[in-house]
Amino acid sequence: MHRQSPILRWRRYPERYRLEGNKCLECSQIYFPKKELCECGCKSFVNYKLKGEGKILTFTEIKSSPEEFSEMTPYCVGIIELEDGPKITAQIADADVTCLKVGDKVESTFRKFTAVGDSGVIHYGLKFKKAKSSIN
Ligand SMILES: [Zn+2]
Repeated sequence: MHRQSPILRWRRYPERYRLEGNKCLECSQIYFPKKELCECGCKSFVNYKLKGEGKILTFTEIKSSPEEFSEMTPYCVGIIELEDGPKITAQIADADVTCLKVGDKVESTFRKFTAVGDSGVIHYGLKFKKAKSSIN
């Protein structure tokens, strides 16, 4: 099998994993995922790379999940408001539900999501973890 550097592979991942959204040229509203029509009616956008930092608006603990994720349960999923504006739903890694609270600062982390069966296919995904400044 032809091996590619992780960076090359990463570049080919969907925009969702690269935190690439877009920004309205008219009113500067930022969208993630990208939109083609802004609330202001403008259709002109530029690509915008989100910083990947934000805070937890709400979160929940997932105790059962589809089989391919079962090794990971329980895990936390939260709605995160990014500093750039958009809100996204993502897993919060390395966190016990008891030590999370609304308003905690989080930062994006790009890491192994799950290894599927014997094929060894590894999925990577966007997750968030508590920002260092938020850990006591
Ligand atoms: Zn706009």
